[in-house]
Amino acid sequence: MMIISNTEITSKNTCDKQHDYMYNQEIEPRKYPLHIQRGTIGHEVLAQYYSYLKDNLNHTAARDFAQDHFVLLVTQSDPNDTERTIMLGELWTTLMQYFDFYQDDSTKYKILDVEQLITAEIGPDITFGLYADVIVEHLTGQYRGSVDIWDHKFVTNFKSPEDLRLDAQQPKYIKAAQLSGLPVRAVEFNQIRHRKMKNPSPSDLFRRAPLLSSKTMIENIWKEAGETATDIYLDKIADTQFLSTRRTLSYSACKFCFFKDLCMAELGEEPTEIMRQVQYQKRKRPLKDWMLTNG
Ligand code: SF4
Repeated sequence: MMIISNTEITSKNTCDKQHDYMYNQEIEPRKYPLHIQRGTIGHEVLAQYYSYLKDNLNHTAARDFAQDHFVLLVTQSDPNDTERTIMLGELWTTLMQYFDFYQDDSTKYKILDVEQLITAEIGPDITFGLYADVIVEHLTGQYRGSVDIWDHKFVTNFKSPEDLRLDAQQPKYIKAAQLSGLPVRAVEFNQIRHRKMKNPSPSDLFRRAPLLSSKTMIENIWKEAGETATDIYLDKIADTQFLSTRRTLSYSACKFCFFKDLCMAELGEEPTEIMRQVQYQKRKRPLKDWMLTNG
Protein backbone atom coordinates (compact mmCIF):
# COMPACT_ATOMS: atom_id res chain seq x y z
CA MET A 1 0.00 0.00 0.00
CA MET A 2 1.25 3.48 -0.82
CA ILE A 3 0.11 6.64 0.98
CA ILE A 4 0.18 9.89 -0.91
CA SER A 5 -0.36 13.52 0.08
CA ASN A 6 -1.67 16.59 -1.71
CA THR A 7 1.90 17.97 -1.66
CA GLU A 8 3.29 14.88 -3.36
CA ILE A 9 0.65 14.99 -6.11
CA THR A 10 1.31 18.72 -6.64
CA SER A 11 5.07 18.12 -6.72
CA LYS A 12 4.73 15.34 -9.30
CA ASN A 13 2.50 17.55 -11.44
CA THR A 14 4.99 20.44 -11.10
CA CYS A 15 8.23 18.65 -11.94
CA ASP A 16 9.41 15.02 -12.03
CA LYS A 17 12.86 16.05 -10.83
CA GLN A 18 11.52 17.96 -7.85
CA HIS A 19 9.33 14.98 -6.95
CA ASP A 20 12.37 12.71 -7.20
CA TYR A 21 14.36 14.85 -4.74
CA MET A 22 11.48 15.06 -2.26
CA TYR A 23 9.94 11.60 -2.42
CA ASN A 24 12.49 9.17 -3.86
CA GLN A 25 15.74 10.65 -2.57
CA GLU A 26 13.79 11.99 0.46
CA ILE A 27 15.79 15.15 1.00
CA GLU A 28 14.81 18.65 2.09
CA PRO A 29 16.67 21.92 2.73
CA ARG A 30 18.36 22.15 6.14
CA LYS A 31 17.02 25.67 6.38
CA TYR A 32 13.71 26.60 4.77
CA PRO A 33 12.97 30.15 3.58
CA LEU A 34 11.48 32.49 6.16
CA HIS A 35 7.89 32.22 4.91
CA ILE A 36 8.00 28.44 5.39
CA GLN A 37 9.52 28.82 8.88
CA ARG A 38 6.71 31.27 9.71
CA GLY A 39 4.08 28.81 8.54
CA THR A 40 5.61 25.90 10.44
CA ILE A 41 5.77 27.77 13.76
CA GLY A 42 2.39 29.40 13.20
CA HIS A 43 0.80 25.98 12.63
CA GLU A 44 2.43 24.63 15.77
CA VAL A 45 1.17 27.48 17.96
CA LEU A 46 -2.35 27.33 16.51
CA ALA A 47 -2.37 23.56 17.05
CA GLN A 48 -1.60 24.20 20.73
CA TYR A 49 -4.35 26.82 21.01
CA TYR A 50 -7.05 24.68 19.41
CA SER A 51 -5.93 21.56 21.29
CA TYR A 52 -6.49 23.38 24.58
CA LEU A 53 -9.90 24.59 23.40
CA LYS A 54 -10.69 20.99 22.47
CA ASP A 55 -9.77 20.02 26.03
CA ASN A 56 -12.42 22.52 27.22
CA LEU A 57 -10.08 25.27 28.39
CA ASN A 58 -11.45 28.76 27.80
CA HIS A 59 -10.02 31.20 25.25
CA THR A 60 -7.73 33.02 27.73
CA ALA A 61 -6.20 29.85 29.15
CA ALA A 62 -5.74 28.31 25.70
CA ARG A 63 -4.07 31.49 24.44
CA ASP A 64 -1.76 31.62 27.48
CA PHE A 65 -0.68 28.00 26.99
CA ALA A 66 -0.13 28.68 23.28
CA GLN A 67 2.02 31.64 24.28
CA ASP A 68 4.08 29.40 26.60
CA HIS A 69 4.66 27.07 23.66
CA PHE A 70 5.66 29.95 21.42
CA VAL A 71 8.18 31.15 24.02
CA LEU A 72 9.63 27.62 24.15
CA LEU A 73 10.06 27.66 20.36
CA VAL A 74 11.74 31.06 20.56
CA THR A 75 14.22 29.82 23.17
CA GLN A 76 15.11 26.94 20.81
CA SER A 77 15.88 29.37 17.96
CA ASP A 78 19.36 30.59 17.06
CA PRO A 79 19.63 34.07 18.66
CA ASN A 80 22.16 35.08 16.00
CA ASP A 81 19.61 34.49 13.23
CA THR A 82 18.36 38.07 13.08
CA GLU A 83 15.89 37.53 10.22
CA ARG A 84 14.22 34.69 12.10
CA THR A 85 14.16 36.63 15.37
CA ILE A 86 12.42 39.58 13.68
CA MET A 87 9.97 37.19 11.95
CA LEU A 88 9.15 35.54 15.30
CA GLY A 89 8.43 38.92 16.90
CA GLU A 90 6.11 39.90 14.05
CA LEU A 91 4.45 36.49 14.07
CA TRP A 92 3.64 36.71 17.75
CA THR A 93 2.07 40.16 17.31
CA THR A 94 -0.09 38.75 14.49
CA LEU A 95 -1.05 35.66 16.48
CA MET A 96 -2.10 37.77 19.48
CA GLN A 97 -4.35 39.78 17.14
CA TYR A 98 -5.66 36.49 15.69
CA PHE A 99 -6.55 35.15 19.15
CA ASP A 100 -8.35 38.41 19.98
CA PHE A 101 -10.20 38.51 16.66
CA TYR A 102 -11.35 34.91 16.87
CA GLN A 103 -11.87 34.71 20.63
CA ASP A 104 -15.49 33.67 19.99
CA ASP A 105 -14.26 30.47 18.28
CA SER A 106 -14.56 28.75 21.66
CA THR A 107 -18.28 29.54 21.84
CA LYS A 108 -19.19 29.32 18.14
CA TYR A 109 -17.50 25.99 17.45
CA LYS A 110 -16.88 22.72 19.16
CA ILE A 111 -13.29 21.70 18.36
CA LEU A 112 -13.62 18.06 17.35
CA ASP A 113 -9.99 17.41 16.44
CA VAL A 114 -6.62 19.02 15.79
CA GLU A 115 -4.02 17.79 13.30
CA GLN A 116 -6.12 14.73 12.65
CA LEU A 117 -5.03 12.23 9.99
CA ILE A 118 -7.75 11.50 7.41
CA THR A 119 -7.29 8.83 4.75
CA ALA A 120 -9.25 7.64 1.72
CA GLU A 121 -8.55 5.26 -1.14
CA ILE A 122 -7.60 7.18 -4.30
CA GLY A 123 -6.54 4.23 -6.45
CA PRO A 124 -5.87 0.48 -6.22
CA ASP A 125 -3.41 0.03 -3.35
CA ILE A 126 -3.06 3.83 -3.02
CA THR A 127 -4.32 5.83 -0.05
CA PHE A 128 -4.62 9.61 -0.01
CA GLY A 129 -3.68 11.05 3.40
CA LEU A 130 -4.03 14.49 4.89
CA TYR A 131 -3.61 16.09 8.28
CA ALA A 132 -6.62 18.31 8.99
CA ASP A 133 -5.36 21.32 10.97
CA VAL A 134 -8.67 21.75 12.84
CA ILE A 135 -12.01 19.96 12.58
CA VAL A 136 -14.90 21.98 14.00
CA GLU A 137 -18.62 21.56 14.54
CA HIS A 138 -20.78 24.69 14.28
CA LEU A 139 -22.63 25.31 17.55
CA THR A 140 -24.68 28.28 16.31
CA GLY A 141 -26.14 29.85 13.17
CA GLN A 142 -27.45 28.38 9.94
CA TYR A 143 -24.78 25.66 9.86
CA ARG A 144 -25.37 24.48 13.43
CA GLY A 145 -24.38 20.81 13.68
CA SER A 146 -22.29 20.92 10.46
CA VAL A 147 -18.65 19.90 10.42
CA ASP A 148 -15.89 21.94 8.72
CA ILE A 149 -12.15 21.47 8.25
CA TRP A 150 -9.87 24.49 8.61
CA ASP A 151 -6.49 24.55 6.92
CA HIS A 152 -4.22 27.32 8.23
CA LYS A 153 -2.46 29.37 5.56
CA PHE A 154 0.12 32.04 6.36
CA VAL A 155 -0.08 34.26 3.29
CA THR A 156 1.26 37.56 1.98
CA ASN A 157 -2.07 38.33 0.32
CA PHE A 158 -5.46 36.69 0.67
CA LYS A 159 -6.28 34.31 -2.13
CA SER A 160 -8.56 35.80 -4.77
CA PRO A 161 -11.63 33.84 -5.98
CA GLU A 162 -9.57 32.82 -9.01
CA ASP A 163 -6.68 31.64 -6.77
CA LEU A 164 -9.16 29.58 -4.78
CA ARG A 165 -10.63 27.94 -7.87
CA LEU A 166 -7.13 27.12 -9.16
CA ASP A 167 -6.07 25.53 -5.87
CA ALA A 168 -6.83 21.80 -5.84
CA GLN A 169 -6.14 21.28 -2.14
CA GLN A 170 -9.60 22.07 -0.77
CA PRO A 171 -11.41 19.85 -3.32
CA LYS A 172 -9.09 16.92 -2.54
CA TYR A 173 -9.51 17.45 1.20
CA ILE A 174 -13.31 17.56 1.12
CA LYS A 175 -13.52 14.51 -1.14
CA ALA A 176 -11.07 12.53 1.01
CA ALA A 177 -12.87 13.53 4.21
CA GLN A 178 -16.26 12.52 2.80
CA LEU A 179 -14.91 9.20 1.52
CA SER A 180 -13.41 8.56 4.96
CA GLY A 181 -16.91 8.81 6.42
CA LEU A 182 -16.56 12.24 7.99
CA PRO A 183 -19.73 14.29 7.24
CA VAL A 184 -17.84 17.44 6.23
CA ARG A 185 -19.78 20.46 4.94
CA ALA A 186 -16.81 22.64 3.98
CA VAL A 187 -13.05 22.98 3.91
CA GLU A 188 -11.90 26.51 4.59
CA PHE A 189 -8.51 28.15 4.28
CA ASN A 190 -7.90 29.93 7.58
CA GLN A 191 -5.78 32.71 6.11
CA ILE A 192 -3.41 34.76 8.27
CA ARG A 193 -1.73 37.56 6.40
CA HIS A 194 1.79 38.75 7.13
CA ARG A 195 2.25 41.55 4.60
CA LYS A 196 3.60 44.68 6.32
CA MET A 197 0.78 47.25 6.45
CA LYS A 198 0.24 50.53 8.24
CA ASN A 199 -2.33 50.06 11.02
CA PRO A 200 -4.05 46.99 9.55
CA SER A 201 -7.54 46.18 10.78
CA PRO A 202 -8.33 42.56 11.72
CA SER A 203 -10.19 42.12 8.42
CA ASP A 204 -6.94 43.05 6.61
CA LEU A 205 -5.16 40.25 8.45
CA PHE A 206 -7.59 37.37 8.84
CA ARG A 207 -10.02 35.73 6.45
CA ARG A 208 -11.54 32.28 6.24
CA ALA A 209 -11.98 31.39 2.59
CA PRO A 210 -14.51 28.77 1.52
CA LEU A 211 -14.21 26.14 -1.18
CA LEU A 212 -15.41 27.59 -4.50
CA SER A 213 -15.19 24.51 -6.71
CA SER A 214 -18.39 22.89 -7.94
CA LYS A 215 -19.24 19.24 -7.22
CA THR A 216 -18.25 18.36 -10.79
CA MET A 217 -14.89 20.10 -10.41
CA ILE A 218 -14.27 18.24 -7.14
CA GLU A 219 -14.99 14.90 -8.81
CA ASN A 220 -12.70 15.67 -11.75
CA ILE A 221 -9.89 16.96 -9.52
CA TRP A 222 -10.12 13.77 -7.44
CA LYS A 223 -10.08 11.60 -10.57
CA GLU A 224 -7.05 13.37 -12.01
CA ALA A 225 -5.27 13.29 -8.64
CA GLY A 226 -5.87 9.53 -8.72
CA GLU A 227 -4.24 9.34 -12.15
CA THR A 228 -1.14 11.20 -10.92
CA ALA A 229 -1.06 8.97 -7.84
CA THR A 230 -1.18 5.92 -10.11
CA ASP A 231 1.73 7.25 -12.20
CA ILE A 232 3.76 7.66 -9.00
CA TYR A 233 2.80 4.18 -7.83
CA LEU A 234 3.78 2.60 -11.16
CA ASP A 235 7.11 4.48 -11.05
CA LYS A 236 7.71 3.15 -7.56
CA ILE A 237 7.11 -0.49 -8.42
CA ALA A 238 8.94 -0.28 -11.77
CA ASP A 239 12.66 -0.76 -12.20
CA THR A 240 14.22 2.51 -10.97
CA GLN A 241 16.27 2.90 -14.14
CA PHE A 242 13.02 3.76 -15.92
CA LEU A 243 11.99 6.35 -13.32
CA SER A 244 11.10 9.64 -14.98
CA THR A 245 13.11 12.49 -13.44
CA ARG A 246 12.85 14.94 -16.31
CA ARG A 247 13.24 18.59 -15.37
CA THR A 248 10.32 20.93 -16.02
CA LEU A 249 12.64 23.95 -16.16
CA SER A 250 10.00 26.61 -16.26
CA TYR A 251 10.23 29.91 -14.42
CA SER A 252 6.98 29.41 -12.49
CA ALA A 253 8.02 25.93 -11.30
CA CYS A 254 11.68 26.70 -10.61
CA LYS A 255 11.56 30.16 -9.04
CA PHE A 256 10.43 28.89 -5.62
CA CYS A 257 11.85 25.37 -5.88
CA PHE A 258 13.89 24.34 -2.82
CA PHE A 259 16.20 22.25 -4.99
CA LYS A 260 17.17 24.75 -7.67
CA ASP A 261 20.87 25.00 -6.60
CA LEU A 262 21.24 21.23 -6.57
CA CYS A 263 19.23 20.80 -9.77
CA MET A 264 21.28 23.39 -11.66
CA ALA A 265 24.58 21.94 -10.40
CA GLU A 266 23.55 18.46 -11.52
CA LEU A 267 22.35 19.82 -14.84
CA GLY A 268 25.87 21.20 -15.35
CA GLU A 269 27.35 17.86 -14.19
CA GLU A 270 29.17 19.65 -11.37
CA PRO A 271 30.10 17.82 -8.14
CA THR A 272 27.27 18.10 -5.57
CA GLU A 273 28.42 15.90 -2.69
CA ILE A 274 29.38 18.79 -0.38
CA MET A 275 26.32 20.83 -1.39
CA ARG A 276 24.09 17.88 -0.53
CA GLN A 277 25.70 17.54 2.91
CA VAL A 278 25.71 21.24 3.73
CA GLN A 279 22.35 22.37 2.32
CA TYR A 280 20.14 19.30 2.56
CA GLN A 281 19.06 16.70 5.09
CA LYS A 282 16.82 13.62 5.27
CA ARG A 283 13.22 14.71 4.78
CA LYS A 284 10.68 14.06 7.53
CA ARG A 285 7.64 12.25 6.18
CA PRO A 286 4.86 11.89 8.77
CA LEU A 287 2.43 10.21 6.36
CA LYS A 288 5.04 7.62 5.38
CA ASP A 289 5.80 7.00 9.06
CA TRP A 290 2.08 6.45 9.60
CA MET A 291 2.01 3.99 6.69
CA LEU A 292 5.00 2.06 8.06
CA THR A 293 3.27 1.62 11.42
CA ASN A 294 -0.22 0.90 10.04
CA GLY A 295 0.27 -0.44 6.52
S1 SF4 B 1 14.67 23.79 -10.23
FE1 SF4 B 1 12.98 23.49 -11.70
S2 SF4 B 1 13.59 21.77 -12.96
FE2 SF4 B 1 14.87 21.75 -11.13
S3 SF4 B 1 13.84 20.40 -9.67
FE3 SF4 B 1 13.16 22.46 -9.27
S4 SF4 B 1 11.30 22.69 -10.46
FE4 SF4 B 1 12.38 20.95 -11.29
